[in-house]
Amino acid sequence: MNTRRTFLKRMTSIGLLLSTSPLSKLSKVRTGKIFTVQGAITPKQLGTCLTHEHVMSNFGGEKSLEPAYDQAKLFSQVLPYLKKVKSLGCDSLADCTTAYFGRDVKMLKSLSEQSGVHIITNTGYYGAAADRYVPEHAFEEDAEAIALRWLKEWEEGIADSKIVPGFIKVAVDGGPLSTIDEKLFRAAAITHRQSGLLVACHTGNNPEAARQQLEILQEEGVSPSAWVWTHANQCSDVTHLIKAARQGGWVSLDGVREASIELHINYLKSFKKEGLLERVLLSHDGNSYPRGGAIRPYEALFTQMLPKLAEEGFSAKELHLLTVKNPQKAFTVQIRKA
Ligand SMILES: [Zn+2]
Repeated sequence: MNTRRTFLKRMTSIGLLLSTSPLSKLSKVRTGKIFTVQGAITPKQLGTCLTHEHVMSNFGGEKSLEPAYDQAKLFSQVLPYLKKVKSLGCDSLADCTTAYFGRDVKMLKSLSEQSGVHIITNTGYYGAAADRYVPEHAFEEDAEAIALRWLKEWEEGIADSKIVPGFIKVAVDGGPLSTIDEKLFRAAAITHRQSGLLVACHTGNNPEAARQQLEILQEEGVSPSAWVWTHANQCSDVTHLIKAARQGGWVSLDGVREASIELHINYLKSFKKEGLLERVLLSHDGNSYPRGGAIRPYEALFTQMLPKLAEEGFSAKELHLLTVKNPQKAFTVQIRKA
């Protein structure tokens, strides 16, 4: 069976591929913009962006579409923190907490309104952590059906919020891609092809899984420039990262913290030498409201890493590329075909 043709038929049958269809019109209208929890902004408005953080998460808890946060406690902890990182130079951040492990887009919207930080939320499912945050329906449905669910969020907004996702977040376990992880990644590629949303895939120190993801993108007719190798800083051999960047993928060095800065700077020097700084994204993978455990701050980039990079000879233009231009380019809605 030609699954691509079956999918096209299914899309057409529900009106999604017709030129007059809402989704096709939407994709045209939305191209060139970035979507935050407060609505569309221009790429310029994104400013200095942290590309992988968690404002809050229920990670470690049971999977649940509606996380039961203590709202008052969350606000009193997170709002001052967001105001602090804004004062350090952060204009925007991408929240990588997916549905079923703590995504709460209305909460993100209130926090964004009150802090002045643009927040981008996501569609997609988290297939790492041995699949414990993957909803039951994803095991039963095929990639196309899952993509249609994510595209519905893009088209109509998340639940009744009218808030649309600004990227697609998926995650894979260690080793070669499992059946469910492969399916979720393929669903992400299909969703990109229809929406132009960036695909960020939690991959870590797993070059083989990254290679498989690039293969799936090719099968689905999607350019590597639509894809982020998330937690690439965990990969112990930088040559794999250089290779992925050379193929056009985004390499996310997102574990910035005091203890990691030397490693990050060494990686950045390798990318600079290869003329590939334009493929790198930087962030902390912080969490200002984790379920239990200590807060993971997301400020070391501003307080420690950028000054250190300047000392090490990185120009203001290069720092601007890493913290402003690259995130702008990555998150701007644009269907990127292979
Ligand atoms: Zn994360």
